[in-house]
Parts: sequence; C-alpha cells; structure tokens
Amino acid sequence: MNKALFLDRDGVINIEKEYLYKIEDFDFIDGLFDTCKYFQDRGYILIIITNQAGIARRKYTENDFKVLTKWMIKKFEDKGIFISKVYHCPHHPDFTHTCECRKPEPGMIYQAQKDFNLDLPGSVLVGDKESDIQAGINSGIAQNILVRSGHPVDEIKTDASIIIDSIKNLPELTNI
Ligand SMILES: [Mg+2]
Repeated sequence: MNKALFLDRDGVINIEKEYLYKIEDFDFIDGLFDTCKYFQDRGYILIIITNQAGIARRKYTENDFKVLTKWMIKKFEDKGIFISKVYHCPHHPDFTHTCECRKPEPGMIYQAQKDFNLDLPGSVLVGDKESDIQAGINSGIAQNILVRSGHPVDEIKTDASIIIDSIKNLPELTNI
C-alpha cells in the first residue's frame, strides 16, 4: 500500500484568492516545493484534492480549471516533484446538487484510495479550512494538519492534529 500526502490547493499550495482561475493570479506559497520534495523523498505520493465551487457558480469553467491545473503540475515537475493526481469537486449544493465529493465529504479521498491503493491511516492531509480537516477525519486519515496560510482558522474548535503557519513548517513538526 502507498502512503499519500493529500494537499488542498487554495491557501495551501497557492495564496488564497477568491474564485482563482487565471495563471497570472496563481502565487505558490513559500516553501511549498521543499516540503513536497521532503515527502516525495520519503515515499509519499502527492495528491491534490480541491473544492472548486466556482465552476458550479459559473465564475469559471471546467476548461479554465484544467488549463490552470496543467500549468501548475508542470511547475511542480520543473522542480522534480510528481503530482500523482488532482481531484476536484465542481459542485455546490445551492447551484448543482449535493454530492459525495465536496469536502468535508470524503469522496475524493476514497476515490484516490481506490486509484492508488492507499494506506489512509498512514497518510497525511494538509488543509486551510475545517472542511478539509473533517474530510480527512471522515476518511480515516490520522494526521490532518491545519495551516494558517489561507482562510482564518478557529484554533479552539478545530479537530486538526496540529496547526502550523504554513506548509513550509511541516517537515520540522511531524515525525516523518
Ligand atoms: Mg483551501
């Protein structure tokens, strides 16, 4: 079985901007690539799971998302980092229908588990919203890490394993 580092996108990989879909608006968070390399070198596969309700809200299209994703993956590859897959949820209950993929639902994580034969308890998730953390808990991931680099976080109410400033600080704070 494989272990994965699950990454939310907005607020974890890139600086959070509402309804981001343009390459020119996409800024990688400092230290992201070093942390990804650290986990990759320790045998983790890298998977991105992202809610993209902007598609349901018609703020941007599936194709806009695809173009940005292709560009982003290439930027990782330029640093020697391989992203195994990007899963996205294009739904929103007010605009489409309820679904099993929108975090905190665990649908995207379960799909990844099937696609890559993952050891979920041994995997790690990083998110900037409580819905990311709950998706991790709902799917049986043991280490669910909340970062302060995106949306404001409720440090009292969260069920996160730990809270850190950004993904940059992850290697020094986990026992991996
Ligand atoms: Mg986010």
